[in-house]
Amino acid sequence: MVDLRSKFTGALIGSAVGDALGAPVEGWSMEMVRSRYREGTGWTMINGRYTDDTELMIGVAESLIEHKGFNGADMARRFIQNYDATRGYSPWTQETLQRIREGVRWDKASENLFGGKGSYGNGAAMRVAPIGLLYYDDADTLRDVAYKSSSITHAHELGKEGAALQAFSIALAVRGEKEGMVPELQEFARSEVYKKKLGKIAVLLQKERTEREIIAELGNGEAAFNSVPTALYSFLRFDTFEASVVYAVGLGGDTDTIGAMTGAIGGAYYGEGGIPNQWVERLEEGARGMSYIKRLAEELYHLKKSDCNFMSAQRYTF
Ligand SMILES: [Mg+2]
Repeated sequence: MVDLRSKFTGALIGSAVGDALGAPVEGWSMEMVRSRYREGTGWTMINGRYTDDTELMIGVAESLIEHKGFNGADMARRFIQNYDATRGYSPWTQETLQRIREGVRWDKASENLFGGKGSYGNGAAMRVAPIGLLYYDDADTLRDVAYKSSSITHAHELGKEGAALQAFSIALAVRGEKEGMVPELQEFARSEVYKKKLGKIAVLLQKERTEREIIAELGNGEAAFNSVPTALYSFLRFDTFEASVVYAVGLGGDTDTIGAMTGAIGGAYYGEGGIPNQWVERLEEGARGMSYIKRLAEELYHLKKSDCNFMSAQRYTF
């Protein structure tokens, strides 16, 4: 039995670990990634530096903790405050944050992108782990907060839905559900695009598949629907955190984000103890490094605990 606290720290550290493993090979082909890292498991993390995925996830966690729940204006402000141009932000996230800085409302700034539909990139899904943790036992609030947090930078329905599905995958992992994950997600999903992909995952898991097939069927790109299902498949196919994340990053493409999303689900399932020590130790430190990320996860855990106590106290008092 993995304890809840370790699942919380595992999800956030796991996400950062996946991000840092994928970062040096972002955009590379499967073959190039494999020639950089060796075949099989036992990968050495190249430098431990994380990217925008983790920097934004930190902002999500900070804001949820500070406001004991979602506050859009504050979350956007933290994205702007924490912004480090060397972390590899997408041009549209940069543009959206710039608009908010100039006074556009947090839930309006990203709407005008891409012909008024907003972005369906995976930028909201990659940072959503703290939401999956805090609302792991409340699917309705989880969806609502995932959508709203997504709309700061990714307003397209498919971007928001990708974030909600990634958050719900993490929630199910916290609950210790792996076997029943796909059917639960199919029931939770609202969009046909994702329902179809989830159906494919169920079929693909039935027998051994080549990486080429997985890339062709599920994708390894920046669109949320071409990466959220890939991360989920990578988690479901293997029995350890390490094997899942090595596989996810080894597919090439948007490696930092697919690695981060796989790492978040795996960390929430196996707990912090399931993440190879040598990766955790190599993660960057500093003001917002590994120890800080772990502390945020612990604060989220305490917030969750106090919420539950408050609610049960209420139930018995009134
Ligand atoms: Mg990134």
